Amino acid sequence: MKHNALAPWRSIRHSIATRLLAIVFSLYVLFAILLTVTQMVMEYNKAHSDIENHLKVVHETISSGVATALWDMDDNHLQAELIGVTRLPEIGGVIVRDEQEEILASEGMNTNGTIRPTTRNTEPEQTKSGQKAFSYTGDVYYEYREERKHIGTLTLIAEPDAVFNRVILSFSILVINAILKTIALWLIFLFFSRRLLHHPLSQLIQAVEQFNPEAKAPPPWVKLNIGGQNELTQLRDTYCDLTARLHRSQSDLMMLNEDLENRVKERTKELKEANAELKKAYARLNETSTTDPLTGWRNRRFISEHLDSDTAIIARTYQEWMTNHIQHPPPFLSDLVFYMIDLDHFKSINDSYGHEAGDEVLRQFCANLSTLFRKSDYLVRWGGEEFLVIARFVDHNQAGQMAERICETVAGLDFNIGNGYNLQRTCSVGYACYPFNTFHPDAYGWTDIVNFADRAMYLAKTNGRNGWVGIRYSPQCQTIHDPSLIVEQTLDLVNNQDLFLQTGKSLPHGSINA
Ligand code: GH3
Ligand code: MG
Ligand code: MG
Repeated sequence: MKHNALAPWRSIRHSIATRLLAIVFSLYVLFAILLTVTQMVMEYNKAHSDIENHLKVVHETISSGVATALWDMDDNHLQAELIGVTRLPEIGGVIVRDEQEEILASEGMNTNGTIRPTTRNTEPEQTKSGQKAFSYTGDVYYEYREERKHIGTLTLIAEPDAVFNRVILSFSILVINAILKTIALWLIFLFFSRRLLHHPLSQLIQAVEQFNPEAKAPPPWVKLNIGGQNELTQLRDTYCDLTARLHRSQSDLMMLNEDLENRVKERTKELKEANAELKKAYARLNETSTTDPLTGWRNRRFISEHLDSDTAIIARTYQEWMTNHIQHPPPFLSDLVFYMIDLDHFKSINDSYGHEAGDEVLRQFCANLSTLFRKSDYLVRWGGEEFLVIARFVDHNQAGQMAERICETVAGLDFNIGNGYNLQRTCSVGYACYPFNTFHPDAYGWTDIVNFADRAMYLAKTNGRNGWVGIRYSPQCQTIHDPSLIVEQTLDLVNNQDLFLQTGKSLPHGSINA
């Protein structure tokens, strides 16, 4: 199964490492900005005091020269001193005042950043920004005969952007420093978070995705590109242990399943074999229960099981013919002919040669008659020395010829009853066909036909034996609707012995037309 839900984990955008990176660096940048602002404020204050000290030092350095020039009233000397001062770094301007605070000389910038006019007693111009430059004013003393005389003040004006220049430099260094540190830290963090977190996690996820508990081989050990023992290797160990156990259970389950399937197959095979055996045994039993042990012919039970389907097929065939093809000849080879065959004077064999001899005659009689019929015909021992043969799907017009062949065959047989004795016997045959009336195939069932055949055989017996009689439907009897009446009527006619002569043969050969 594919774990699509895990797929986004592959993306660095959603990985723990990236998230960690984002959180850590957001906080880090915020903290760095706060720290930098604080540092900047401190730097600004420090720059301020540094400039002040610088101005003080410059004042101390130049105040004796300025004092001498003032004392000597040497304007050129004074101006040269002032020009020299303004050339010092971060000094924007200088103003010298007398004891009455009147400006005696000045050079460079004014306190508001404008260029101070060099003429005396002129007020400085207003600047556009109005920003005041940082300045320091100190007294100027002249030592005269070991006496310290106050002769004026000296104001030193720092360049307006001196503090800013100092601060901006520190700020630039700080910012560049912070940016470089951040980038370096980011890259280091990214590299190691990917290496120590993202890659091993991806390997674990891949292993989880590829794990197939049904695979034949046990799951491979998940190798993580991370050294030492940590939470991830511990997670990996637990996972590998779990999958190994899962695989073992699955393998056991599959083996059990396979074993179970084999056992089911084996059992099914055994059952099939037993079933086949049972079917065979049932068939044998059926065969035995429907077979006469002496002659090998079927018994009555057999035909009661098989004839219903035959008569149903034939009845349908004739119905179909009447409904759709009546203008054509009737169905051919679609009849059943029932022959009832009885050995003549059989009892005398038993009486004269014994029961065994009688049995032997019955066996040979059946064996020989079997050769006259097809395998698909039904040969039935109806009872004692009486036999019913059902010739299936034949032409009913040929029924008389077959009856004749039966009589001839039996009459021509030499029954060997052992001890050098041979016997001859004849038989009497009665037949009737299904359907009895082709226009009413359902009018008589097969039991009726057996009955007709039996009656016909009886007629053959009563009319001299060694002959055959067939009972057939005759169109002349169409007005008689009751089926039983047809037979009784026929039998009455038979009893009158009129109809036996129809074939022109000597009695009892011929057909009775019902
Ligand atoms: P018919 O010409 O009128 O048929 O005379 P039949 O002697 O053949 O007929 P009947 O009905 O008088 O006698 C039939 C005899 O068949 C009676 C019985 O003892 C004998 N029988 C019946 N079944 C067997 C059998 O399985 N074996 C032997 N040996 N005899 C049998
Ligand atoms: Mg008999
Ligand atoms: Mg009999």
